[in-house]
Amino acid sequence: MTFRITYSVLDADLSELHRQFDAALAAVRGGLGGEYPSWVGGAALLSNDLLESRNPAAPEEVLGRFHRTPVAEVDRAVREARSAQRAWGATHWSERVRVLRQAADLLSERRLVLAARMTLEVGKSRLESLGDVEESADLLRYYANQLEEAQGFARPMARLSPHEDTRSVLRPYGVFAVISPFNFPLALAAGMSAGALLGGNAVILKPSEETPWCAEGLHQALVDAGLPDGVFQVLHGEGETLGAALVRHPGIDGVTFTGSRAVGADIQQRLLAGRPRPCLLELGGKNPAIICRDADLEAAVDGCYRSAFGLSGQKCSALSRVYVHEDLRADFLARLAHKARETAVGDPSLASVYMGPVINAAAVRRFEQAVTEARRDGVIHAGGERLRIGGALAGGHFVAPTVVELPHGHRLMREELFLPFVGVTGFRSLEEAVERANDCEYGLTAGIFSQRPEDVEFFMDRAEAGVLYANRRTGATTGAWPGVQPFCGWKASGSTGKGGCGPYYVAQFMREQSQTRM
Ligand code: NAD
Repeated sequence: MTFRITYSVLDADLSELHRQFDAALAAVRGGLGGEYPSWVGGAALLSNDLLESRNPAAPEEVLGRFHRTPVAEVDRAVREARSAQRAWGATHWSERVRVLRQAADLLSERRLVLAARMTLEVGKSRLESLGDVEESADLLRYYANQLEEAQGFARPMARLSPHEDTRSVLRPYGVFAVISPFNFPLALAAGMSAGALLGGNAVILKPSEETPWCAEGLHQALVDAGLPDGVFQVLHGEGETLGAALVRHPGIDGVTFTGSRAVGADIQQRLLAGRPRPCLLELGGKNPAIICRDADLEAAVDGCYRSAFGLSGQKCSALSRVYVHEDLRADFLARLAHKARETAVGDPSLASVYMGPVINAAAVRRFEQAVTEARRDGVIHAGGERLRIGGALAGGHFVAPTVVELPHGHRLMREELFLPFVGVTGFRSLEEAVERANDCEYGLTAGIFSQRPEDVEFFMDRAEAGVLYANRRTGATTGAWPGVQPFCGWKASGSTGKGGCGPYYVAQFMREQSQTRM
């Protein structure tokens, strides 16, 4: 079966989509404050320790209460996973494909409710939330197709003698811990889990403590699709305690993690201390765009604006450094700053709002620290302040989209901020621009705006990042879809060299076995 993209946001009647979203949002708001368990061995796990999920736009609003998994229960979850995995790993690949496709269809059917929850829980705009849910469903379908096209990853090898018949077979590792971040709470939990499940592994998901509600939606879809008990478990709780206990457990056969560089490094250290096990890390970015002298300036400003401020700058692929030709610098800064100042910031559940809040109070503090440094060492052209919005949103985690001129090499031009905050600096030659763009420990995404094909080729040949874009008005450094843009972190942005959304993903969750028969 060929893979067909189902991103309805692209070709939908938008007014009808907004009407449907409003109806779903009203229904979701009617059910706020419910209690949800962790899931161990196919059964609800209740504890008297509740994690509250709150709306970052209105933090006094409790969306749901989630039973934290006590650290002492991690061992039982691992035993349940090991036991359930035996049958799941032995299940024919075509049945695993069937179940994951069914789960994808359920996610698609439920997309409005899941997107409405996501807008409340993460502060994503409604179209971004819908995109996240639809990407989740497409990831499941795309990865299912990978397993199907490879016929379960079993292939005949060459013969040394006519009496010997050898096959290469990819087999599951066993139990994967899946640890996911808050910013794509469904797509990343779903994508990593699907890779592991299709490969015949059992999964223990520890979702971000900021987004347990979105993880619950994934669990429900997989259970309703017929995934056997214990094959997919969800443990709610904090990373430093529960997440650390999970990756430390000797019964875990592999970890797949998407999140910050520091946590990824910590997980890798823990795994290295034990027996050799796969550790698939997709980490942060500090993504640059280069604006050449002959660029279409309007397209460049649009592309940079969207990539810097979409989802409040909280994408791993967000644009955070711009290198602009000196002849365009003043004009570019003025235009980008103007757009930033005009941004509709506020309640992300409204159709008219472009940028919602940042995720929590710690992100606001990080923003205030960055602004202090920017005032000291650079020039702030737009933003640079916390926004106080009145009424029901008073207390929301809102900050202004911020554009700052900074010297190359400044801390704010090197470290990931994960905020709506973009640094701009000039260059004189393309060689210098590419050198500066590469002069960074991260290597996730990068973009260029130039009308000269030879400049674009130069950039494509030399840029040190896993995902490159040229002249992309819809996003200078952001945007990826399953089967369209493989999304792979180079350098400090990832460990695998084979990204999500790409053709080599599922095989990473399996180990090769050579089988020779006489
Ligand atoms: P984070 O690293 O703070 O948390 C990610 C997950 O790790 C959460 O579930 C958290 O609870 C858990 N965790 C925290 N400490 C842990 C520990 N010691 N042991 C085990 N688990 C632990 O990241 P975040 O703030 O949720 O997400 C933002 C980060 O994710 C950014 O750095 C962003 O660039 C990155 N990200 C990368 C990609 C990619 O594809 N490369 C995609 C999305 C986000």
